[in-house]
Amino acid sequence: MSTIVQKFGGTSVGSTERIKRMADRVMREKEKGHDVVVVVSAMGKTTDALVKLVSDITSEPSKREMDMLLSTGEQVTISLLSMALQQQGVEAISFTGWQAGIQTDSVLGNAHIQSIDTGRILNELDHGKVVVVAGFQGVTEDGDISTLGRGGSDITAAALASALKADRCDIYTDVDGVYTSDPRFVPKASKLTSLSYEDMQNLASMGAGVLHPRAVKHAKKFGIPLYIKSSFEKGRGTMIHGKAKQIGSNPVIGVTFEKDINRVEMFDCEDVEGFRKALMCELASRHIQADVYKQTCRNSLSLLIKEQDLQEVLSILDKEKEKWMYSRIERKRGLSKVSVIGQNIKSQPAIKMDMCKILLENAVRVKLVGESAISVTAVVEKSQVQLAAERLHTGFGLDYKVVMKASM
Ligand code: ASP
Ligand code: MG
Repeated sequence: MSTIVQKFGGTSVGSTERIKRMADRVMREKEKGHDVVVVVSAMGKTTDALVKLVSDITSEPSKREMDMLLSTGEQVTISLLSMALQQQGVEAISFTGWQAGIQTDSVLGNAHIQSIDTGRILNELDHGKVVVVAGFQGVTEDGDISTLGRGGSDITAAALASALKADRCDIYTDVDGVYTSDPRFVPKASKLTSLSYEDMQNLASMGAGVLHPRAVKHAKKFGIPLYIKSSFEKGRGTMIHGKAKQIGSNPVIGVTFEKDINRVEMFDCEDVEGFRKALMCELASRHIQADVYKQTCRNSLSLLIKEQDLQEVLSILDKEKEKWMYSRIERKRGLSKVSVIGQNIKSQPAIKMDMCKILLENAVRVKLVGESAISVTAVVEKSQVQLAAERLHTGFGLDYKVVMKASM
């Protein structure tokens, strides 16, 4: 029998009305004869609201208590969705992360799934039940509840689909697929109906918020097709799988951006390279993503980090001050990153030049330009990020109707 994993994001389960509608979707899949495992997020903006509660109490919450708190959001949804299914005559059972056998490492707040013991889920599926699992959470070896980082329910869904060797993992969300850029900000963005794991991973790792990059990694490992589609609208979404071809001949497949970025710069470092290496190891051990740039001319080290990681990074730097002997630290908020994405971009220097030219022509003030194998990134003022993204999208020939859709 085939197994389908369905994942519903926060907006899709944002009210009891919507939960009932999603229960219909689950029921339809079950009626087709599939075994169905459902993964859900917390309702609407519940997780944000929980984070806000904490800020009334402390600015330095313990990670253990934070995960204990944040994991409750998903627990509300699993029970309500199971009840909605039962109400419609579908046998269903809800599981928290640990009940679903999801074991993680001990990096609380940003844990990685290490293994999944699917025994209990398989047993319930054998009994004909729909299993509803709380996304975004697991349990550490010590028995503590852990969370996987914001947006982590996608990871739970893809990891479960892999562990169960599911036939497909459907990600229901509030957009109807993956676009060449975020269509809410770049109106001419084009929908990509089919994408390779690599292209999706590249887009997601550089800020395309539609799917968590680590979800793609899990799906890719066992070749599980990921299907991104709208919870509310009919129509074809985006299929991500191993057979998708490269999109047309354009080396650039998309323009991504991250709006709330902080730049932290340490000046007059004695050993910039040593500091860079040590810092990168420290950040990696905490699963914190950061771009680290050396500026040799002023012996400084610059970090670009997400708002959510700022406090933790500052406290690491504070502890390391003695050791690395930088003279002062400067911090700038209100920045954004905008990136053009494509395979092997680094080997095509013309792309970086074109990017800088387009931004200059449109009076976008560029603070920093960096590159990786799959992207060229410019740091700009937050107030200019939308303009930058739109112009780059047009400049690289990605606007609606211009782009060639990949074919399967
Ligand atoms: N509820 C969590 C969040 O808001 C996880 C998720 O929705 O994927 O980040
Ligand atoms: Mg999401």
